Amino acid sequence: MTIRTTCPYCGVGCGVLATPDGQGGLTVRGDPDHPANRGRLCVKGAALGETVATQGRLLTPRIDGVEAPWDRALDLVADRFAAAVRDHGPDSVAMYVSGQLLTEDYYAANKLMKGFIGSANIDTNSRLCMASSVAGHRRAFGSDTVPGLYEDLELADLVVLTGSNLAWCHPVLHQRLMAAKAARPDMRIVVIDPRRTATCEGADLHLAIAPGADAHLFNLLLCHLFDTGRIDAGFMPHVTGLDVALSAARRADPAATGLEPCDLSAFLEMWAATDRVVTVYSQGINQSDTGTDKVNAILNCHLATGRIGHPGMGPFSVTGQPNAMGGREVGGLSNMLACHLELENPDHRDAVRAFWDAPRMAERPGLKAVDLFRAVEEGRIKALWIIHTNPAVTMPDADRVARAIAACDFTVVSEAWPDTDTARLAHVLLPATAWGEKDGTVTNSERLISRQRAALPAPGQARPDWWAVAQVARRMGFRGFGWTEPAQIFAEHAALSGVAGALGGDFDISDLAGADYEALAPVHWPQGPAQRAGRFFGTGRFHTPDGRARMVPVMARLPDHPVGRMLLNTGRTRDQWHTMTRTGLSPRLARHLAEPYLQLHPDDAGRL
Ligand code: SF4
Repeated sequence: MTIRTTCPYCGVGCGVLATPDGQGGLTVRGDPDHPANRGRLCVKGAALGETVATQGRLLTPRIDGVEAPWDRALDLVADRFAAAVRDHGPDSVAMYVSGQLLTEDYYAANKLMKGFIGSANIDTNSRLCMASSVAGHRRAFGSDTVPGLYEDLELADLVVLTGSNLAWCHPVLHQRLMAAKAARPDMRIVVIDPRRTATCEGADLHLAIAPGADAHLFNLLLCHLFDTGRIDAGFMPHVTGLDVALSAARRADPAATGLEPCDLSAFLEMWAATDRVVTVYSQGINQSDTGTDKVNAILNCHLATGRIGHPGMGPFSVTGQPNAMGGREVGGLSNMLACHLELENPDHRDAVRAFWDAPRMAERPGLKAVDLFRAVEEGRIKALWIIHTNPAVTMPDADRVARAIAACDFTVVSEAWPDTDTARLAHVLLPATAWGEKDGTVTNSERLISRQRAALPAPGQARPDWWAVAQVARRMGFRGFGWTEPAQIFAEHAALSGVAGALGGDFDISDLAGADYEALAPVHWPQGPAQRAGRFFGTGRFHTPDGRARMVPVMARLPDHPVGRMLLNTGRTRDQWHTMTRTGLSPRLARHLAEPYLQLHPDDAGRL
């Protein structure tokens, strides 16, 4: 029997048809009916069937390295978390979760921490992926809402890719873009990237911008739009802040971009003269100490021209992970509440408190990822639960993070594998189900909710993450965690979104609360008549107090670094994912690049 499910890797969120081979394996192919990929898969997705072996998996709970029954492990986790809260307060415990979690897992963890333990010390590795976009959206739109859809990349006359190696990082979306360009050669593609990446091969123009100079470039664009009369006067009643944004943008320095004047002029005029323009940005923009400003520099240009919320136009943040967007929906970041509600808003907190019947709501933002591990290092976190992520490798200053986790009084790690760098540091290891065994939903970069379905039985004693969270919550004496299947969690999440919708929020999927979960087909939000075929903001109504979008003044600056030093950009390899616990199982995925590498221009290598 063939199972309709979703790829567990990048934020494109491709549909997969998985067929068990009867010997514990799976054959996979792209789902032709899935709107995100229409049958396509990249090489990672196509190799999923080679990664489902259970040899070497974590199959039973372990306490201090010794196998233990689930009951004993769960009792211990609940006891230690309860003791930390009792002796040191709610903020002495923390969770660090992942954009790999399914929405139902995320919902359960967020509910436990923010509604019952009473601390917002739950953050996610998505913090490193797209938190800058969340903050930029909220500053500009008053809500974290991605305005557009993937099809906008196909409908645009100009697609600008900045801070995005789409060909490697979001391959199927890149394939869709290339197919659209092949069908409509007049479409132009510009890549803005210090490196000449694989994405540049399909581009009409590559701007090898100086590292970190993106805000200079988009501030120059804002000035050019104003100076050439391209500001959309008809849209300006829906926008505030043009004057202050423009005044800040005037300080942008063309020389800082490192671009040839003719290339710079060509780009500015191409963007200014094209109504249907989509600016795609990704981790190259987000992963920066000025990432939020860079996001707003991009959003400013789209707001100034009203190029937002219509087919073929708008800013577009592409998420790195499969369910970074689902994490945003449940409030998986330490400064968010559930359903895109605001933690600092007392009305929002009261609404969620009432819905959850929560005894102890968090009332202020918790620790963000870097600060969270600093707090672990300083001994302020007495009990830490890490779910489906490997921060001992992936956090900035990873060795320091690993030392901090090792020194924590009590660390729980939910994992599919026993030997990751983080799992080795755990006092309690909980065996988690992995892709192919998990059952739930994910939301991709264009707000498309899809089901991830189990095609294989859970091996050994592996259990879903939502189940482990609910079991601990119940042992801590909390009501409201009596779910027996993920459909119940999704229905609760969808019903809560109706509360958010009543408070004016965009994220309202309450229509799905009574949906047939087993049969749930991919569905975009929003679905209401106020939106234009699944896009936001085309009507000019935003979620700020006055209903107008805010253009944000951005003071462009460059990264601080000693003059003459070599700046290294990070990237990723096309066929591997995160710390390779899954993709490393497929020999064919190692053929693209056998080992980590450093690319250096021969002239630089000679000079250095
Ligand atoms: Fe999976 Fe992303 Fe490849 Fe699609 S593009 S198959 S979601 S890794």
